[in-house]
Amino acid sequence: MATLTSKEWALAKRPVGMPQQADFSMKEESIGEPKDGEIQVKNSWMSVDPYMRGRMYDRESYVPPFQIGETLTGGAVGKVTASAHPDYSEGDLVVSMAGWREAWTAKPEEMMANKVPQTGLPDSALLGVAGMPGLTAYAGILRVADLKEGDVVFVSGAAGAVGSTVVQIAKIKNCTVIGSAGGAEKCNLVKELGADEVIDYKQHESYESLVGALKAAAPKGIDVYFDNVGGDHLEAAIECARPMARFAECGMISQYNATEPVPGPRNIIQVVGKQLRIQGFIVSTHTDMQPQFLQDMAGWIQSGKMKFEETVMEGIETAPDAFLGLFSGKNKGKMLVKLG
Ligand code: NDP
Repeated sequence: MATLTSKEWALAKRPVGMPQQADFSMKEESIGEPKDGEIQVKNSWMSVDPYMRGRMYDRESYVPPFQIGETLTGGAVGKVTASAHPDYSEGDLVVSMAGWREAWTAKPEEMMANKVPQTGLPDSALLGVAGMPGLTAYAGILRVADLKEGDVVFVSGAAGAVGSTVVQIAKIKNCTVIGSAGGAEKCNLVKELGADEVIDYKQHESYESLVGALKAAAPKGIDVYFDNVGGDHLEAAIECARPMARFAECGMISQYNATEPVPGPRNIIQVVGKQLRIQGFIVSTHTDMQPQFLQDMAGWIQSGKMKFEETVMEGIETAPDAFLGLFSGKNKGKMLVKLG
């Protein structure tokens, strides 16, 4: 057993608008040996996720706000380096919420840590396709959107962690899939993942142009919209929705850094006439699907039906950059930070 040193990131101040490097501060902590019931873990991967932006506001939400000066939290994978817990041994792989740091010692439940059996997947996948974003895609498209074979599905943020998984699940379920993403490289990826049509939304800066592109891709309209972006994408999806279409409102990243209230979809009145079902959801409400999700996902990955892309930044020092990169589209697939 040994004492470790851990570099960790805290919020220096609450970001206004787009977060900046200066909103984060690094500190160094000494990580002691575990006491009774505790484990010591060295993280090998940490996740940055768009929802973390919401926790940087001081406001009530489904998760409490981050506190200034306290080490940030988020998904992480690591190995147990010392254990004073009967269920954990040195070398065990754990997934936890103790991200934004290199190492930690605590009771597993304090860090929402769980031991992971060997899955045959790379450890990093536990933070992406086989982790929280994967379950978000799975629950969102299958349960919330109530996907049916033959549906015409529109997915925004289609080259990202959640969106790229949604595209592939919808293809596995024999749907027609239209994905939108920013830039030619990302659109090529979405096409490679099996999407029937791809919209480079950066080529359609006006709402009218985006609607035109969606109408061209789905001449008969869409049955399902999986929303990662909000804003003009949501408005375009309402415009192109077939009667009784279902919307899974997963996220609205285009609004996360807004400094003023954002106007709602101007065409929301169509919800009535088209009898649309627009449902928001939070992945943690759907953890009952986890066993089936893992079984299906492992099978799809093994059979080659599910591919996953990762964008990897190296070293704890890069974590704020990795996080900021989510808002300027720096990632293809899951954005991750590889640690030590
Ligand atoms: P991504 O891997 O998709 O990364 C974010 C991507 O969003 C960027 O790469 C960028 O892609 C796109 N983006 C950023 N800013 C904008 C903008 N202004 N307009 C349009 N696109 C933008 O992230 P995740 O897959 O982890 O998350 C996707 C969505 O799902 C987010 O909204 C997130 O909050 C939500 N989410 C919700 C959960 C829930 O429980 N409801 C759980 C997990 C995620 P591009 O270059 O293509 O623009």
